[in-house]
Amino acid sequence: MSTATAYAVSAPDGAFEKIAIERRELGPHDVLIDVKYAGICHSDIHTARDEWHGTAYPCVPGHEIAGLVAAVGSEVTRHRVGDRVGVGCLVDSCGRCEPCLAGEQQYCRNGAVWTYNSPVPAEQQAGGRTLGGYSTQIVVTEGFVLAIPEGIGLDVAAPLLCAGITLFSPLRHWNAGPGKRVAIIGMGGLGHIGVKIAAAMGAEVTVLSHSLSKQEDGRRFGAHHYYATGDRDTFKKLRGSFDLIINTVSADLPIEDYLKLLRLDGSLVALGLPEKPYTVRASTLAGFRRSLSGSMIGGIAQTQEMLDFCAEHGIGAEIEVIAADRIDEAYERVVASDVRYRFVIDAATM
Ligand code: NAP
Ligand code: ZN
Repeated sequence: MSTATAYAVSAPDGAFEKIAIERRELGPHDVLIDVKYAGICHSDIHTARDEWHGTAYPCVPGHEIAGLVAAVGSEVTRHRVGDRVGVGCLVDSCGRCEPCLAGEQQYCRNGAVWTYNSPVPAEQQAGGRTLGGYSTQIVVTEGFVLAIPEGIGLDVAAPLLCAGITLFSPLRHWNAGPGKRVAIIGMGGLGHIGVKIAAAMGAEVTVLSHSLSKQEDGRRFGAHHYYATGDRDTFKKLRGSFDLIINTVSADLPIEDYLKLLRLDGSLVALGLPEKPYTVRASTLAGFRRSLSGSMIGGIAQTQEMLDFCAEHGIGAEIEVIAADRIDEAYERVVASDVRYRFVIDAATM
């Protein structure tokens, strides 16, 4: 066992505090990673504040992890000491069910093991729940450790491990590319990487943001069009425009208004996970044969494909690096949509 320093909350309204945690002894297939950077995803906030219910405390969030391999178990073949590696939202899955065999471990029928707040036997993590990347070290089985290609800094790579794959996967699944009109709702952590990836795939990209305040950035990331959803004319102008609309917004939206922006056979994909259910009329879906769908992160092989794609296209996240004692302040700013575009914790400050 080894001791790591971590930042944890101990109640839904609690502040982050520095604590010591135990990481398990390395099994034959385990990799010990010195965490260098951990991104702050809005899901960390939903979990830390128990907005999805079921958070166990103390809770150490963090599933956008980039670091260096510090040690490997006796049978590890995929990674070596010193390698640049990443860990996303998943640290294990059953490996035998249909989704796992198809490489879609995030949909494991027997329950994927999430990087934090997932129940596990106490010998895997003292306390019986996984503890995430807001910590100096983490132990992960080799099959769930990704290689970060040379050419992407570890700091700007960290957010790709969740935000990057969460956008890459549906963009691939719904065939974003030349001739496809793609709209991204919300240009926050997820959205801004989605704009970069969709543009690199060759799609015609539109941002639907609540105001025009980030328009210049959006165009710099590769967006061809940028509209404010606070302006009702936007919904009239864009009716029937898009093949694919990706909703990254963490708050409730009038989803019917957005569905009407789809062309014939278009799909709206839900990525943002607000607390309240959507309300949709069947007639809105029936008209224009529209689909309302959803997507959750991506499998391990596709996450590696995404990292390689981002390295090839020079894509990293736009980040603001913070010290660990500023996590609470960063959370407030994310909730207020005051982030450009991802906070990343520098683990050296722990
Ligand atoms: P974020 O950085 O806070 O970005 C969300 C963006 O949504 C904001 O920047 C803002 O963009 C827009 N927004 C926020 N509040 C709004 C409101 N009241 N009305 C309209 N627009 C609003 O969050 P994130 O880290 O990208 O995560 C977004 C959501 O995705 C969260 O719910 C998170 O839990 C979820 N998530 C899902 C998956 C998955 O696998 N499906 C993976 C990761 C995260 P504008 O300023 O441009 O309007
Ligand atoms: Zn996330």
